[in-house]
Amino acid sequence: MKAPVDKLSPATRLTTAGRRPEWTGTADQPGAVVNPPVWRSSTHLYADTAALKAGPRTNADGRFYYGRRGAPTQWALAEALTELEPGAGPDGGTMLYPSGVAAIAGALMTAIRPGDVLLMTDNAYDPSRALARGWLAQWGVETRWFDPLDLAGFGAAFCDRTRAVLLESPGSLTMEVQDVPALAAIARQNGACTVLDNTWASPLGLAALSHGVDIAVMSLTKHVGGHSDLMLGSATAGAHWYGKLRHTAQALGQVVSPDDAALALRGLRSMGVRLERETASALTLARWLESRPEVARVLCPMLPGAPGHDLWARDFTGGCGLFSLVLKGGTAAARDALIDALALFGIGYSWGGFESLVTPLDPGPSRSATPWPPAGADPADRFGLRLSIGLEDPADLIADLERGLAAWNAA
Ligand SMILES: *Cc1c(COP(=O)(O)O)cnc(C)c1O
Repeated sequence: MKAPVDKLSPATRLTTAGRRPEWTGTADQPGAVVNPPVWRSSTHLYADTAALKAGPRTNADGRFYYGRRGAPTQWALAEALTELEPGAGPDGGTMLYPSGVAAIAGALMTAIRPGDVLLMTDNAYDPSRALARGWLAQWGVETRWFDPLDLAGFGAAFCDRTRAVLLESPGSLTMEVQDVPALAAIARQNGACTVLDNTWASPLGLAALSHGVDIAVMSLTKHVGGHSDLMLGSATAGAHWYGKLRHTAQALGQVVSPDDAALALRGLRSMGVRLERETASALTLARWLESRPEVARVLCPMLPGAPGHDLWARDFTGGCGLFSLVLKGGTAAARDALIDALALFGIGYSWGGFESLVTPLDPGPSRSATPWPPAGADPADRFGLRLSIGLEDPADLIADLERGLAAWNAA
């Protein structure tokens, strides 16, 4: 018997979502295995010519047609992500993409046309900015960047050609928490589609569509995969935008491999406990860093008193292990010595895996509408770190950071 999904808490949905009996068994033994098998398929076969000519009865997941429309492994992942997104509604859905960047591109290409203006938050992930400056500009879309924290400035930025808005909250480098419901409401009044890069929070931490967002995008590479072994992205929306997302993705030939979909489903099942553990460890480390004389600012919205904490506490139901910090004074060379002295933090882009990572934080050159360091901050405090806290014991990570700070002090 199937439990009514909308009555279940998110933690329970993580275990039940996407496990349709017809995708996890055979016709005479539906639901016989726990996970959908990896359906490797390009060709889908028809019973007879009449069935071939009739084609799929609907353009919806769950109907075999041809490999590019996926098969049960991909359908199960998409359905699971939809079930986790409150507000997608019965006719909403999720499109899968080969990476998070492909999902952002798929969402923006769905929401805008040549000649339109896109408003992009100034804390956006660098490849989102590069997409706007490069390919979207060539395609005739003009992008204007706005201060992520300035509601009045955002309202004033609209013109009659503004068709879409890209938010990212918290900004994945500088961690500004945006007033998502207020920004989305202003966008809606102006007839623009709001796309939110919700990779940091996932639907467990921020129910994007219920907060007024039209299209919630995630890099599944991060928390959903969770094991640093796959690249995938998703875009989830209610019926109106889901239909359009689907149309664009199909026109562009977007499809993901069943192997990656199976890995993402496997990661998804443990995402809740990983996020809880990473959030708790990140808070432990953030509190410790806050007490260190070498640290000017800890940019961790889950930390009481940190920038953005009030909005985070109002809108979010969870956090994750990703946060940043700014060091007091110093030099780039000393910061690099700090990073190189760390043994447990791998040096690498990405985040959300089981293992901790560190990257230097130098957002200044990629800001357009707002200065970095921000107005009011001491301009000498500009060298930072971004930490992605994994599943290690936080005491070991603190000892590692102590070694790093010793190298900073020595440099
Ligand atoms: C990593 C990341 C992406 C892009 O995801 P990929 O799967 O690496 O293409 C998008 N947004 C944010 C905030 C990210 O950190």
